[in-house]
Amino acid sequence: MKVNRIFCIGRNYAEHIRELGNTPDDACVVFMKPASCVVAAGAPVVLPRGRGSVHHETELVVMLAGGGADIPVERALQNVAALTLGLDLTLRDLQNELKKKGAPWELCKSFDGAAPLGGWIPYAGQDLQAIEFSCEVNGARRQSGRSADMLFPVARLIHILSRSWALAPGDIIFTGTPAGVGPVKAGDELLAGIDGVTELKVKIAPAL
Ligand code: ZN
Repeated sequence: MKVNRIFCIGRNYAEHIRELGNTPDDACVVFMKPASCVVAAGAPVVLPRGRGSVHHETELVVMLAGGGADIPVERALQNVAALTLGLDLTLRDLQNELKKKGAPWELCKSFDGAAPLGGWIPYAGQDLQAIEFSCEVNGARRQSGRSADMLFPVARLIHILSRSWALAPGDIIFTGTPAGVGPVKAGDELLAGIDGVTELKVKIAPAL
C-alpha cells in the first residue's frame, strides 16, 4: 500500500522527554511530514547540508487500512494493516531554535528524506504494546525501546488522530521515540530491528 499521510507523535516515552530537557505531561505532540519524506527500504538517505546536527529517532510505525473519523479506542486496532520501524530524522539544532520561537517544526522534521521506513510486516493481531526494538549506528547500540513504555498506546493514538482527521488507507503513524537519540553523519550505517529481527537498514549517503 502506498503511504498516504504521515502522522508523527512526539513525547510518547517519558525517558526521551527527559533527555531533551522537557517534562512529561498529559498530552502528546502531533505533527506531520509530507509523504515525499519517505525513503524506501534500502535507498540511501541524503542529509541536509550545513543545517546543524541531524538526530535519529527510531520509532514503531503502523500503517492503517482506513478507519474514518472519531474512532473509539476499543475499535482502533481493527484499522491497523501493517507495522514496521521508521526513522523520524530531525534537525535537532534547528528544532531547538524553532522551539524557542514557538515556531512550527516542518523545517526540522519534514525535509526530503526525513522518513526512512523499513519493510512492512502484516498486522495479524500482534500485541502492539509488547514490541521490543533497537537501533545500532555503525555497530554500536544507541536505542532500545519497549512499546510497553508508550505513554499513549497505539489504539489511543489512532483515536486521538481520528478526532481531527478522517483516517484513510495508507495513513501511517510514527509512534514516538524512546530515549537514546543522537547525531548521524554522512557515511553512517543504521540498523534497526524489532525483537532482534532486522527490519530497517539505512545508509547515510557519503558527503559530496
Ligand atoms: Zn519522533
